[in-house]
Amino acid sequence: MKFLLLLGLFLAVVWLARGGRRIHPRDDARPRPTGVPQAPASTTEEMVACVHCGVHLPEGEAVGSPAGWFCSVEHRDVHPGAQSR
Ligand SMILES: [Zn+2]
Repeated sequence: MKFLLLLGLFLAVVWLARGGRRIHPRDDARPRPTGVPQAPASTTEEMVACVHCGVHLPEGEAVGSPAGWFCSVEHRDVHPGAQSR
């Protein structure tokens, strides 16, 4: 009977130790790597060239089509094969 009490006490200590470690804020911040710099996503936008006139512009401002990227809707419409969308 004394063995069961000791076993229960041991399990309670282990459970408390694991639970206490889990809610510790320092352990939650530890997995984040500190040596890797995080570049802002807005400055790493890819540049694409207009298929029609060749001007380079950010991908977010370009007009996409099955034929490629265009600088404007007008160039997409006048380019052969691009307006079939
Ligand atoms: Zn263009």
